[in-house]
Amino acid sequence: MQHYDFAIVGAGYAGSVLAERLASQSGKKVLVIDKRPHIGGNAYDYYNEDGILIHLYGPHIFHTNSPEVFGYLSNFTEWRPYEHRVLASVEGQLLPIPINLDTVNKLYGKNFTSEELSDYFKTVGEPVAEIKTSEDVVVSQVGRDLYEKFFKYYTKKQWGVYPSELDKSVTSRIPTRTNQDDRYFSDEFQSMPLHGFTKMFEKMVDHPNITLMLGTDFKDVKDSLSYDQLIYTGPVDEYFDHCFGKLPYRSLHFEHKTLNEEWHQPVAVVNYPNDNAYTRVTEYKHLTGQEHPTKTSITFEYPQAEGDPYYPVPMPENAELYRKYKQLADQQQNVYFVGRLGTYRYYNMDQVVAQALTLYKKLVGADSLADVAAGKVPSK
Ligand code: FAD
Ligand code: UDP
Repeated sequence: MQHYDFAIVGAGYAGSVLAERLASQSGKKVLVIDKRPHIGGNAYDYYNEDGILIHLYGPHIFHTNSPEVFGYLSNFTEWRPYEHRVLASVEGQLLPIPINLDTVNKLYGKNFTSEELSDYFKTVGEPVAEIKTSEDVVVSQVGRDLYEKFFKYYTKKQWGVYPSELDKSVTSRIPTRTNQDDRYFSDEFQSMPLHGFTKMFEKMVDHPNITLMLGTDFKDVKDSLSYDQLIYTGPVDEYFDHCFGKLPYRSLHFEHKTLNEEWHQPVAVVNYPNDNAYTRVTEYKHLTGQEHPTKTSITFEYPQAEGDPYYPVPMPENAELYRKYKQLADQQQNVYFVGRLGTYRYYNMDQVVAQALTLYKKLVGADSLADVAAGKVPSK
């Protein structure tokens, strides 16, 4: 039986980054197992039967403020500059979200300057003694009307609960602006992998020390594997057979469609913060830069409680339950938990890359993330 230094469960960002570093920088023999038939985790993209590059698990846009993370991933892909823009369908208009000067002027038929809008926000924003929930974040900044039109019902659909029940970190992801900046993200680095995410992952795991075992659930093979250390990027509660109870995850149903037209909507994503059962519609050609004169592919996202675990749900009682699993996880010898599901964190791709590089730094005793990303690690 082949012996491995590391078995890694999950071929998404967390698993692939660690496999890549351990194999290429530390000479470790690594086995990567994923129950899906492909690498890339939720960032997986592929050409559909109409030849359009789509994201199987919903729109993924890369953005980061970390030069280390950007520099590290640049070893495996070239980039296409892309700044994400989103419109929200509100009262028959498509308005910029994050809320900015144009959003308010168009919605209310005003002609505010930036300064006037700041003053307006001060008058409508509701004072909140301590900002705790996702409702507090928004109503304190922009008041109740904009909160209800853009956030309240979108959030109810997406999470199954109102923003008042969710941690403030959820709606804090979306800034409020008084200028005309209509970019969804403000990060320093914003771009898409030139040939797609999957191609980038292929390069990461293309190493003689890495063996891939796809279409395989770890549970089914764990007793037949031989390895020294385990890195687990699946749901942490599942690893422990839900011994403290199930951690809630929010799931989505994706409806993928190809239309016989060149373009469907003016930007990559349109949000529906209202009664529609779906939250948003993505049109991939805007994201990928792909050209096709007669076809375009789109995806509708329908949130649901059951199904693949896509989002940890940031609520106080879930954080409490996760703490129990974390304690148990910390007691394991030679088992490490990482990634969005492994650490129950609502992390973006770049944060997972940083988290994985940080674990690698710990494993090899390197001094800094920059050293780890650049391959400067102590020899063992
Ligand atoms: P995952 O990608 O979930 O990988 C975990 C892997 O483990 C999976 O492939 C799973 O099959 C495998 N696995 C689990 N259990 C087992 C088991 N028992 N045996 C074998 N394999 C197992 N981030 C951004 O930065 N920008 C975006 O625009 C963005 N958009 C998103 C949109 C959606 C709809 C979603 C759901 C997420 C989005 N994200 C985005 C977040 C991004 O997907 C994650 O941060 C990132 O993919 C997490 O990587 P990961 O390796 O932790 O987990
Ligand atoms: N949100 C909202 N209305 C919007 C956009 C976002 O209410 O038009 C809230 C909602 O709760 C959402 C959260 O802000 O889940 C974070 O939005 P983001 O677009 O970052 O979500 P993701 O891309 O991770 O699904």
